[in-house]
Amino acid sequence: MIGAIIPAAGTGSRMGMPVPKQFLELNGVPLLVRTIGIFLQVEKIQHIAVVLPGNHLDTAEQLLKKSFSAAQYRRLILVAGGATRQASVLAGFAALPAATEYILVHDGARPFVSTEIIENCLQEAMEHGAAVVGVPVRDTLKEVDATGSVLGTVDREKLWHAQTPQAVAAQLFRRAYEHADATGFMGTDEASLLEHAGIPVRMTEGSEQNIKITRPGDLELGGNLYGAVSMQRIGHGFDAHRLVGGRQLILGGVSLSHALGLEGHSDADVLTHAFMDALLGALGEGDIGGWFPDTDPAYRNISSLELLRQVMAMVWKKKYTLSNGDITLVCQRPKLAPYVPEMKDNLAAACQVESNRINIKATTTERMGFAGREEGIAAHAVVLLQGNGPSVSK
Ligand code: MG
Repeated sequence: MIGAIIPAAGTGSRMGMPVPKQFLELNGVPLLVRTIGIFLQVEKIQHIAVVLPGNHLDTAEQLLKKSFSAAQYRRLILVAGGATRQASVLAGFAALPAATEYILVHDGARPFVSTEIIENCLQEAMEHGAAVVGVPVRDTLKEVDATGSVLGTVDREKLWHAQTPQAVAAQLFRRAYEHADATGFMGTDEASLLEHAGIPVRMTEGSEQNIKITRPGDLELGGNLYGAVSMQRIGHGFDAHRLVGGRQLILGGVSLSHALGLEGHSDADVLTHAFMDALLGALGEGDIGGWFPDTDPAYRNISSLELLRQVMAMVWKKKYTLSNGDITLVCQRPKLAPYVPEMKDNLAAACQVESNRINIKATTTERMGFAGREEGIAAHAVVLLQGNGPSVSK
């Protein structure tokens, strides 16, 4: 059994901002959500203990529930941190199941880690007991005294910058923490505790992009890294559902007050269906009928936003993100404008993007056709995906 600990209990004082840095947003997504999302993609990690400031547990719970599917959220364990990083990591460890054999520790504010780095680090730990991710020092290093005078040049030959994740067998982790506790040792990372206890640690190559967001400038640098675009894909979707009595009308995850609702196997959210079909179209992955068949009882009355999160997981797995989406509802009644902001927010949250990347508009057909006769509602959608993966091919 493999578990991860993501310490994110810091107050972010170095950012000089009222909100802890792990909740700061990069392209509209909190750093912590981005970081956790990458760990959730590594399926062999069954549990992820997210260690948070005690006064942010409730907000974090809401944020994470909104950001991930129910199945993904079930793998998360939210726990309050301690006064130090060391205490917080220990709190995370205590929250993982007792049968956990290997653990990975990763900074919540290191959102550019990749699944490859995580898997390599874990593999090294499984072979050698403990591993830390890092990159060789490339700049020349100077030793400088308190007055600013250079004392000399440090040999960088053997020097590496330590990053996270750091992975270790649970029994070695336990031994290192007990030793640190007994000797009053405080380390700046998990590997230093292992070293202090005489436990060998393997260095494994990380990435220059795997930076820790610590100061305001880092966020900007991170935005540039994240913004790198190598590929774009466009997709189109269309859907229509019949209006019937005795059903709740749901559009874009919003329950509208109207005498009629849409007929369907799921919640019949025609807007979200057209949008999902556009996303699947952009990925070259068929349509929602193929992925979520209406013959499957699992999808009976399911919230279409839940299905959208599953479609977005496919998008991210192929290393794409949503650049923008534009949706047109064709609907005679009710008036939809008052509900549009909430619909946009719902779709944006499920896609982990800012709301201004989603546009929703509604039109009537001047009482012509099925929509005009109020027999049903239709929706058209187009999306653009941008990717920093090489291509969409499998
Ligand atoms: Mg449909």
